[in-house]
Amino acid sequence: MPPVACHDSRVDAAGDDIPWQRIRSLESSTGDIVGADPGDPGRHAGLRSYLSFVGTFKGSMLLVVACFVVSNTVLAVLPVFIGRFVQALAGAAESTDGVYRYAAIIIGCNILHDLTWRAGELLYLRLLNDRGYEYENILFRSVINERYPYFVGKFTGKISSYIATLGREFRDILETTCFTYVEQMIRVPSIIIIMFSVNLYSGLTFLVAVLLMMAVGRHTVRRTSRAEKRLADEVSEMDGYVIDVIANFVSVKSFRQEETEYEQVIRRRRTVIEAARRSYFWTVVFWASMSLVVRYLVWPVSILLNLHLYLTGQLSLAQFTTFLSVLVMFSDFIWGTVWEIAQLNLRLARVEEAYRYLFADRAIIVDQPVALPGPASAAAPRAPGRLEFRGLSFAYPENDGRPVLADIDLTIEPGEKIGIVGRSGSGKTTLVKLLLGYYPLPVDIVRVDGRPTSNYQLAAGISYVPQDTTLFHRSIRDNITYGTAVAATQEQVESAARRAHAHGFITQAPEGYDTLVGERGIKLSTGQRQRIAIARAFLDDKPMLVLDEATSALDSESEVLVQNALEELWRGKTVIAVAHRLSTLLNMDRIIVLAGGGIVEQGSHRELLDQRGRYHALWQRQSGGMLSVD
Ligand code: ADP
Repeated sequence: MPPVACHDSRVDAAGDDIPWQRIRSLESSTGDIVGADPGDPGRHAGLRSYLSFVGTFKGSMLLVVACFVVSNTVLAVLPVFIGRFVQALAGAAESTDGVYRYAAIIIGCNILHDLTWRAGELLYLRLLNDRGYEYENILFRSVINERYPYFVGKFTGKISSYIATLGREFRDILETTCFTYVEQMIRVPSIIIIMFSVNLYSGLTFLVAVLLMMAVGRHTVRRTSRAEKRLADEVSEMDGYVIDVIANFVSVKSFRQEETEYEQVIRRRRTVIEAARRSYFWTVVFWASMSLVVRYLVWPVSILLNLHLYLTGQLSLAQFTTFLSVLVMFSDFIWGTVWEIAQLNLRLARVEEAYRYLFADRAIIVDQPVALPGPASAAAPRAPGRLEFRGLSFAYPENDGRPVLADIDLTIEPGEKIGIVGRSGSGKTTLVKLLLGYYPLPVDIVRVDGRPTSNYQLAAGISYVPQDTTLFHRSIRDNITYGTAVAATQEQVESAARRAHAHGFITQAPEGYDTLVGERGIKLSTGQRQRIAIARAFLDDKPMLVLDEATSALDSESEVLVQNALEELWRGKTVIAVAHRLSTLLNMDRIIVLAGGGIVEQGSHRELLDQRGRYHALWQRQSGGMLSVD
């Protein structure tokens, strides 16, 4: 049977097809995103996701936008009333009626503008502000629900930084839409309409000015955007490097590489500074070009033109005053508009890049309440069954179909203890990953008590004790109870810890079960971390145990404690262990030797030694109670 190609949609127990090809096509060999193909139908996946989330609260959105529409409209028509007010003022000697009327309208417009604006602000706070943050929860849920290979193919730092980028941009766009874009969408057309109402020439001058600014702005902004994009890339590369160095601080300290790393940071920072300089330069060019159009073109042309029309009696005082107020408003306002439009482009480019990295062109589900499936153990089988693998073949998607495991047949009886050995790279860990459902297998490969089962379902019945347990930076209690189906009582936690021979060192820790373990559990020794993982497995109490023994020797006291704990843990369970220690191997009912992608020998320790084959050869190289397999 050919190795399982992981993009086979049959294989996914949960029913979702993992987009291998898409994930791969997006990443270069360095794992970085490759530029978007302009013809790609999924080009606006990020924007579509934003819009579909906004669709879940569109009533609230419309209400807030309506407030700002009213607020901006009353302000936009103000120059017309100012013009009429000044005209009325000029004729005040004959009648003061118009003066008071227009004064009242101007005051009223301002108050109405303010009231509707404040209402918009309050409604925004009440109805939209929280939504801006909730989008980030949806992103997190979508990412954390991705399968194992998703995380293997990506930088964790980049994932979290892109979640933050998408969340921040969503909030910014939401806020800018209400407070700025609505304003611009009303004010720019109204300025032009009012100018046309003053006279045709003024209308045309302003229309041409806006079009000219858009054209000039588009050009300079494209340069600015490109420079800003480059800067953002350099900054994120830099951040990734710094995170990587700090995460590997143990290696840095062990090899005393502090100064070398510092020099590297200085060197890499130079490219950031260069990118920042370019970005700043193009921003300056943008503002200068806008200023050129407004101050050197619009003001002189329109003032001289309208003055001439006024002096020759072709323009009333009201029209001339309206023109002047609009001109001031226009100058104050128009650059911001061009800038905001450009910023929106830039923002959307950032959004699309982040979204593609995280989800390719898939839509994330935004309009369903979070239906948390609960801990994996909730639906777990309670008793070990007869486990069969038929024709198990597997190739990593990254490895172009090169099989790691090929056509393996294996039957494991309920309660049987199986040890897996083999040289480094023989596929032991891969087999464990498949048992744990990290990579999906076709359902006809795995059978439990004769029933075809997906390896994802199989994993629900497995407790796993990994080779090197990394813990959450939470309390010891939280780490022990992590993933258990029902909330455990303190007695249950202590009992599990006692059986794992962990209670002693936990009670000696400064705050006992409440002690924080440090990032990835760094404050605990390897043996202690392993015993926490064993305590977790006691509490979890699944019918199968998959165990990846630590390849590095524990100190002899830890080894005895871990061994005793494991022996108690696996009583009554089916055990599959990647085993390195003599003590573990001797306790196994059957040892399986992996080589060349297949099972080359199997039997008890004694039988395999007598065969004088590969196991014997591996065994000959044993040292200090560890089977030297590397
Ligand atoms: P073992 O545990 O026996 O040392 P592994 O199962 O870890 O071996 O690895 C088997 C082979 O699969 C090795 O050649 C390794 O390079 C390859 N491999 C392991 N993990 C991955 C991965 N995520 N992507 C691609 N190849 C992998």
